[in-house]
Amino acid sequence: MGMDMGMTLDGDVNLDGRVGITILGSGSRGNAVLVGTVESALLIDAGFSRKEILARLATAGLDPCVVKALLITHDHGDHVSGARVLADHLDIPTYLNAATLKHLGKRNLVGAKTTVFDSGSTFSLHPFEVRPFSVPHDALEPVGFLISHTRSDGMTVKIGIATDLGHVSMLVSARLADCDALVLECNHDVKLLRTSDRSLNLKRRIGGRFGHLNNVDAVEALAGLVGAKTRHVCLCHLSGDCNDRGIVEELASAKLAEIGRSDITLSIAEQNAPLETIWL
Ligand SMILES: [Zn+2]
Ligand SMILES: [Zn+2]
Repeated sequence: MGMDMGMTLDGDVNLDGRVGITILGSGSRGNAVLVGTVESALLIDAGFSRKEILARLATAGLDPCVVKALLITHDHGDHVSGARVLADHLDIPTYLNAATLKHLGKRNLVGAKTTVFDSGSTFSLHPFEVRPFSVPHDALEPVGFLISHTRSDGMTVKIGIATDLGHVSMLVSARLADCDALVLECNHDVKLLRTSDRSLNLKRRIGGRFGHLNNVDAVEALAGLVGAKTRHVCLCHLSGDCNDRGIVEELASAKLAEIGRSDITLSIAEQNAPLETIWL
């Protein structure tokens, strides 16, 4: 028939059992990423209003009923501003570590159903395995997530997500190595940050070891993290005024070419609109 595996007769890709990643939006004015199958998905962070997240799910063609849980990376507003209202609206549990729960609970920012995870321990959220890991960032107890899913064809796919981190620690390197898809921060251009009109204090905080990953460090880290299995890289949390999509795309494409991995699909998250779903 000459038809690719996984294609149905009408030409639509058969998504049964496959796992998709949809960056609903990313940047200092809000972050939310959906990871899941057509039946069951996890929302990583809810840094937009409920209304905005539902609108973006609709734009991306995703049914909010498939969202089974909300996972929180850390307590910053651009990751949690819609957390309580959205989780209660969808009637789903929020997974977060104890320090983050304590902080958000005091401010009435978390939904009614909560489950506390340990930042170093894997937990199961059927049909996913979630492995949180600590990241160096100036929040209470920030984490990234490694999400594994065994597809119906028996293949296990790994998705690594680290959106706010000042540097790539040994632990981060170990967790994010050779993921099928990698979602990594690429926050700012060092020169644009230096020449911006931000206060010296803020510049130091953003550019520091517990701030946000700059373009050069992100792209260098990327080269070490991609492995034989890696097929997709999504760079995210770009600064609105201290970065430029063109610079990021050029740097990352050049680095992937340099290491002989131009086969990897590169995407760059947007603040104001969802990206097309990446299917694994
Ligand atoms: Zn943050
Ligand atoms: Zn952030």
